[in-house]
Amino acid sequence: MMTDRLEAMRQIEMQILELANSPLFDYRTSNGYQPVIGQGSLEAEIVFIGEAPGKNEALSGKPFCGASGRVLDELLASIGLAREQVYITNVVKDRPPENRDPRPDEIALYAPFLAQQIAIIQPRIIATLGRFSMAFVLQHFDAPQQTQTISELHGQAIEVQAAYGKSIVVPLYHPAVALYQRSRKQILLDDFQVMRRLINPS
Ligand code: URA
Repeated sequence: MMTDRLEAMRQIEMQILELANSPLFDYRTSNGYQPVIGQGSLEAEIVFIGEAPGKNEALSGKPFCGASGRVLDELLASIGLAREQVYITNVVKDRPPENRDPRPDEIALYAPFLAQQIAIIQPRIIATLGRFSMAFVLQHFDAPQQTQTISELHGQAIEVQAAYGKSIVVPLYHPAVALYQRSRKQILLDDFQVMRRLINPS
């Protein structure tokens, strides 16, 4: 089963590598950037979904390896998790110029790859980081909460019906907010405790 997952993930990687119709493709190739497919265990119980790679990520091909990544590592450690135990990816797999927000056409182009990644890993918990991944995931599973904002939904456990069974979506603020707003860091730490209780209910 593990090799099936690996092979399916490789297929996705090949398609994204060749995604010449992406509006971000020329920016990738002319800067020597790589697409960021995802990192971690394909057997993970939890998948974290960010927004799009930044410069560090596009240079290394790894998600969350800059300043936001250090915050994410700290948040994971606060509930006893290491990166290797989870899977981390983004909605948009190529870096948008100057870290601007991903555009709707870019999200529409890359989101089917994310949907396939979720179907491959079949996580029990899907933690969205920021409003773009929250919006996509709640729409994808047609959750009634899809019209609500991240300030209303962060830290909630939202049950959704995936093709493979039930899954729980936990909307979280993007770790980058902790870099410029201390109060948001505490909210993130508190919301990670919700995840801890979902992982170890006792
Ligand atoms: N921000 C994101 O949303 N994703 C990354 O991979 C890095 C920073």
